[in-house]
Amino acid sequence: MEYRSVNPANGEVLRSFARHTDDEVRSALATADNTYRRIWSKMAIRDRARIVARAASLMSERKESLSRLAALEMGKLISEGRSEVDLGAAIIQYYADNAETFLAPRTIESKYGCARLEYSPLGVLIGVQPWNYPYYQLSRFAAPQLMAGNVLLVKHASGVPQCALAFERLFTDAGAPAGAYTNLFLSTEQVGTLIDDPRTRGVALTGSERAGESLASRAGKNLKRSTMELGGSDAFIVLQDCDIAYAVKMAVVGRMTNAGQTCIGSKRFIVVGARAEQFLEAFRDALRQLKPGDPLDETTTLAPLSSDAALTLLLNQVREAVAHGARVFTGGDRLGNTGAYMQPTILTNVTPDNPAYQEEFFGPVALFFAAKDEDEAVAIANDSPYGLGGSVYTADVEHGKQVASRIETGMVFINYPSMSAPDLPFGGIKRSGYGKELSHMGIEEFVNKKLIWVAPAPARASRPA
Ligand code: NAP
Repeated sequence: MEYRSVNPANGEVLRSFARHTDDEVRSALATADNTYRRIWSKMAIRDRARIVARAASLMSERKESLSRLAALEMGKLISEGRSEVDLGAAIIQYYADNAETFLAPRTIESKYGCARLEYSPLGVLIGVQPWNYPYYQLSRFAAPQLMAGNVLLVKHASGVPQCALAFERLFTDAGAPAGAYTNLFLSTEQVGTLIDDPRTRGVALTGSERAGESLASRAGKNLKRSTMELGGSDAFIVLQDCDIAYAVKMAVVGRMTNAGQTCIGSKRFIVVGARAEQFLEAFRDALRQLKPGDPLDETTTLAPLSSDAALTLLLNQVREAVAHGARVFTGGDRLGNTGAYMQPTILTNVTPDNPAYQEEFFGPVALFFAAKDEDEAVAIANDSPYGLGGSVYTADVEHGKQVASRIETGMVFINYPSMSAPDLPFGGIKRSGYGKELSHMGIEEFVNKKLIWVAPAPARASRPA
């Protein structure tokens, strides 16, 4: 596996990086473990916060260069890159500001005596991260775990090595000791070897189910903690009382943000009642307005996919879906001959016996379903192996919340496509994985929640079982 920057807008190879050798990986682990024991875990949380907050400031200062790098390496629109950097910096600052409160010891008033719960770090953690949000994904792993006192070895996706190095530099330049945050260009075998090593204490993956199965089982074999943020196929449910123009506007945001390559992207559009056809046509018309072009051009609204391989995969998925009876309502093909551009696509008539019904389409492909009533809409939404997010559109917010409660996912949003913010817990169920990131929950995933119990006086009280 090679780490290569290739511009997906034109296929130009920008840079290549050699994998780290086994010796280099061993040395990085030894440094990380030493830093954990001697420096980082011993440091007052306020001192860690000063360094982490400085990294957040540097991220904001470097917004233009970071966004440009994401545009060049994975085709992200420059405006979307800026928003991602803003969100990443906000997450890092959020944990610098709040970790001390989140990790403050708690008293438990037990009828069996006074008890206290205190939080301590675990040690060296491994992070395996995807290319689609090359800074946000790293921020939401790194900030809470560093603030908790853990140290990190991070394997970023092989298509975004320059983003990986630029993110690592934020912490180095902020004054983090060597070994606190280390980027490594690893093979999957080297990741496995690191998980097996007794000095590593957990692994956090954001990525595909395939990677999830592999890393979760390796962590399980070693009895180590893991969090798995995997794929999704979020339902976008339009109820009968919803303003169609608003729903269509949100559908474009939900499906087309990041060229459709978002785990919480809206992927299955389920419209209740007689206005389904009206929604479908308006959605198609809105998608046709998007303007393909260079992601660095401020006027571009349709970016390429992250790579030629991603485009080929998506085109094959569409072809297979059609072979099993789906109809292409719009799009369905690549766009132009240069770059990994895909036509915004809507598939209809995707029946439950079509493999596409169960699949995640990681790009600008929407599956459309008309539902005769709300019960049927909820049934379609829940008939998925995934359980990440979802959204409901209605004029009656209270009713929307009731519908949201019936949806089997980790997150549901009313009148806005699934989104992410520093203080909102993020994570899924079913084949979308397990564990939460962000908010106070994210910092609790890789800490020892230690109970300290004091016997009541006189201490001779009978010992509870
Ligand atoms: P991927 O192939 O699983 O890659 C993600 C990361 O895992 C990369 O760093 C990749 O390295 C690494 N990897 C893959 N197989 C591995 C293995 N067996 N052992 C160790 N590392 C391994 O995922 P992707 O297709 O690039 O990313 C898109 C997927 O991620 C989608 O399914 C999307 O929904 C999901 N995702 C989920 C979330 C969430 O929060 N739930 C967020 C974003 C994306 P290489 O690049 O070197 O192969």
